[in-house]
Amino acid sequence: MNTIKRILYVTAAVLISFCANAQEEGKKKMEQDFEKFKQNREIDFQNFKKQRKEELKKMAQEYQDYYNSMMGLKKYYVENKDTAKANVVDDIIKFEESVSYVFGKRLKVTEPVVVTPTEIKKEEVKQPDQEKPHFIKSNNNTEQVTTKEEEVKVQKVVEETKMETTFIPLPTDGNTIPILTPLPKAKSKITSPYGMRLHPTLKRNIKHNGVDFGSGRNTEVFAAANGKVVLAEFNRSFGNYIIVEHKDGTSSLYAHLETINVSKGNTVKKGDLIGYTGSTGRSSGAHLHYEVRVSGIPVNPEGYLKEYK
Ligand SMILES: [Zn+2]
Repeated sequence: MNTIKRILYVTAAVLISFCANAQEEGKKKMEQDFEKFKQNREIDFQNFKKQRKEELKKMAQEYQDYYNSMMGLKKYYVENKDTAKANVVDDIIKFEESVSYVFGKRLKVTEPVVVTPTEIKKEEVKQPDQEKPHFIKSNNNTEQVTTKEEEVKVQKVVEETKMETTFIPLPTDGNTIPILTPLPKAKSKITSPYGMRLHPTLKRNIKHNGVDFGSGRNTEVFAAANGKVVLAEFNRSFGNYIIVEHKDGTSSLYAHLETINVSKGNTVKKGDLIGYTGSTGRSSGAHLHYEVRVSGIPVNPEGYLKEYK
């Protein structure tokens, strides 16, 4: 009997000490895990902060560039004593100023970078993949080319968002409002439509004010209608870009150009060669970003792609 008791005591003592040990080990492990979690969380948080700061910087830059472009337009209209149009643009400028408060930043007027037109060589036979020297160095490392998976995602977002198209009926001569597709037919496949889309670099839904044509580099860009060049300059978002003003308050915008072949104030005819496609500014590969604006407001350009050169 005594022996059995002794065995029981010893066993109990061993079990108790074993349990205490296990408890100590468990506690240590939990502490280690928690320390690891805290470290990972800190790294995640730092990365998140960095990413958000980068996004905000890019968005603020886009607002700033758009604002500058509108200031350029206003200057043009004021110089030409067109008060009505200057007032329309002024409304947009005021709106941009109010939006900029979201970033806690005041939009500043900066002098636009005027791009000297490149002479058009009429005899030159163009090779599609031939690289011309960059007019203004494009900053390709700011963006990656959209992957197939992202494209599918974008398509889904676009289908879910039905955007209305404001379309001004065709005048009888058909030359004064933008109806010509600004690229040769073979190069005018739309790769990104107008409307809400997943921004390729910012990874969130942002309104796309125009259409993107997968034109490749150095494709001829034509004026969509008769009109006047009101802006031909460079900014960080649009790169080298042109705005042509047409009749009835319509205008067309051509962005990310490799070269610009017209200057501010030039009169252009429908189908005139005004530049070549490229990837300047914030661009994911060589393409043409094309906008149609009615009274300064971007509308869906797809309703305006009625003809080909
Ligand atoms: Zn675009």
